[in-house]
Amino acid sequence: MSLTDLTIKGALEGLKKKEFTAVELNQAHIDAMAKHKDLNCYITETAGHALTQAAESDKRYASGNTLKLDGIPLGIKDIYCTKGIRTTVASRILENFVPTYESTVTSQLFAAGATCLGKLNLDEFAMGCSNETSYFGNVISPWKSKSEPNKQLVPGGSSGGSAAAVAARLCMGATGTDTGGSIRQPAALTGIVGMKPTYGRCSRWGIVAFASSLDQAGMFARTVEDTALLMNHACGHDEKDSTSSPREVPDFTQSVGQSIKGLKVGIPDEYRIDGLPEEITAEWDKGIEWLKSEGAEIVRISLPHTKYALPTYYIINPAEASSNLARYDGVRYGLRVDEGGNLNDMYEKTRAAGFGPEVRRRIMVGTYALSAGYYDAYYVKAQKTRRLILQDFEKAYEKCDFILTPPAPSAAFGIGEQIDDPIQMYLNDVFTVTVNLAGLPGLTVPTSLNSDGRPLGLQLIGRSFDEETLFRAGAAIEKCANFKAHPFKGDAA
Ligand code: GLN
Repeated sequence: MSLTDLTIKGALEGLKKKEFTAVELNQAHIDAMAKHKDLNCYITETAGHALTQAAESDKRYASGNTLKLDGIPLGIKDIYCTKGIRTTVASRILENFVPTYESTVTSQLFAAGATCLGKLNLDEFAMGCSNETSYFGNVISPWKSKSEPNKQLVPGGSSGGSAAAVAARLCMGATGTDTGGSIRQPAALTGIVGMKPTYGRCSRWGIVAFASSLDQAGMFARTVEDTALLMNHACGHDEKDSTSSPREVPDFTQSVGQSIKGLKVGIPDEYRIDGLPEEITAEWDKGIEWLKSEGAEIVRISLPHTKYALPTYYIINPAEASSNLARYDGVRYGLRVDEGGNLNDMYEKTRAAGFGPEVRRRIMVGTYALSAGYYDAYYVKAQKTRRLILQDFEKAYEKCDFILTPPAPSAAFGIGEQIDDPIQMYLNDVFTVTVNLAGLPGLTVPTSLNSDGRPLGLQLIGRSFDEETLFRAGAAIEKCANFKAHPFKGDAA
């Protein structure tokens, strides 16, 4: 087996047994990155940095004094500030921004011995579902449509670079952020595992702000256990983020392999939306059967305000984004377009040149929703609906322990197919945004390839701060689904 096909758990065992070195493990991934450069997963590669970190890991392996993630090569979504390494958010406005500080999540991962292969592509400012809004070009999924092998598929978004890189074996795990589905949806479209924890589990400090009341950090990997291991280090209280939770972080890996006998699984009626492709419903039904076969009990639940989730999200999200992005004005950092004229001209020209069309759209919508006269009609109403959506979940959890749904309304679509229709694009978030509005944890697990060779998965939604049940049930689904497909080797790998 090639080193890039190992799980993180397997790699840590191999490193301990001295079957290979951390430098060799990192070099294998650097070679894979060069081979699959066409996928455009990385905006900035930091091979030299990874090898230096790996050499330090090897010293620790030699001395026997190792760290929990020692030598494991990760990719970092380019929305996490990394000290001394360019951080662009896939936007022209931050094209040359080099932070002087490190985000809390990445500093925790590196303190545990993980290495940094580079900064991963994303939708500009994490706004999108397909990684097509990046200033640095779209990411191409490593998966191929069987019926149309020349068609390029989207990896999902906004964490499309993270998901494609993990699926293509260009890193062993990656960070993501999830504001409306950007971890769970790309994980589903690329056949990998993605966890968005409860709002407040991970510090947002040093992560470029998009919509602060919805943004959460999280992790991608190829197995549930690897994801649990990475989450152990990504989570934790941080004094620098007043919204981060002081709750103790359990060892999530302990949940993997625990029986789900007697757990109650909620199946929401309202998620059986019109026009849902048959293959998505069939996968959902398979998931229900797998959970039953593992001893879980299925209960029907109702989340009646689901139909308001997308409109609510697409008011609150742009409102917060327009406010957060006001800081990019050409004065303190980032791009400045100053061609004479007054200060206002400089602001206007800088922002017009620095932001792409989707970012401009959100700023316009958000500014409108927050403006005098419309604030009550849109923003306040959306906040009220958000509360009702949360109450739906609270009620549902009186009857069940977690919820099973599809993560996305379709398998990966073709590049260019939806980018000209923002409403169509926003519909991709129909099963994920409710979770961010309610601040709950969500996990995507890959389950099958569809008849066209494109990955399908399932989403598990948990109670607040109950990631453990998700890892427990996610591992049960993983065991039953036995998904082993490899994007470059077919089903048999
Ligand atoms: N697709 C959603 C949006 O564009 C979610 C993005 C995200 O989670 N970062 O807002």
